[in-house]
Amino acid sequence: MTRLRMALATLLAAASTFALAAPATAQVPPIPRIDVPGQATAIYGVRNTLPPLSAPTTYAAGPGMAAQIQAFRASGAYQREQRVVAFYASRFQAQWIRRHCPGAKGHAADRCPDGRRPAAVFDIDDTLVSWYALYASTGFTYTTAIAEQAIDGCATPRIAPVVQFYRDTISRGVTPFLITGRNDSDRAATESCLARLGIRGYHELVMRTNAQESLTATAYKSAARNDIEAAGYRIITSIGDQVSDSAGGYTRRGYLLPNPMYFIP
Ligand SMILES: [Mg+2]
Repeated sequence: MTRLRMALATLLAAASTFALAAPATAQVPPIPRIDVPGQATAIYGVRNTLPPLSAPTTYAAGPGMAAQIQAFRASGAYQREQRVVAFYASRFQAQWIRRHCPGAKGHAADRCPDGRRPAAVFDIDDTLVSWYALYASTGFTYTTAIAEQAIDGCATPRIAPVVQFYRDTISRGVTPFLITGRNDSDRAATESCLARLGIRGYHELVMRTNAQESLTATAYKSAARNDIEAAGYRIITSIGDQVSDSAGGYTRRGYLLPNPMYFIP
């Protein structure tokens, strides 16, 4: 009788846990692992309407795709996918810290194995800040004028769920790094824009030098992550709107945000 009552109590406890967990899970659809040919890094995220994710050249959607991209945005699906990917990136990071840095509270860095400090990498453009309105103004075509408005004019609103994930990262004691394809000559403008948008507290802003301009984003960004890990960090998550933000290793996981506007190998 006692045993039966205990079993029933266990069952009810499990059921109530499930009842609490179920609505949250139901609101956040799962995201798949993205299969990128030739790519070993585990990248999770959403598929979008671009060419194959292993395409070797850059691509811009252009005016022919404008109606579909604007509909994607107007439906709320674009923003929803950003929320979902940021949610899973943050959850994975939190779970990793709990599993590998037990007892860590706010200062996970001191408690992690091998004395390595946990880190997270964030891309900037169409990850922390949005170029959508600028691209929409040109029929989804890249121009130097919109680049100037974005970089010098800081005409790029925050992407709120990713900025929230960035803040969660800091509050967990995980060190944030920014790795951007922007050239180092744009450092002052980029730093002042990030400050204006309230994106502060990053450990380092990694930018392309002139010598790195000919590298693919995959080669440049994976080498930058290698440097970070060689300096004693362990990168748990890398998040960006391109596969090239996470491809090539040196991160436990990559998280891919939607970007129906352009593709960077
Ligand atoms: Mg980007």
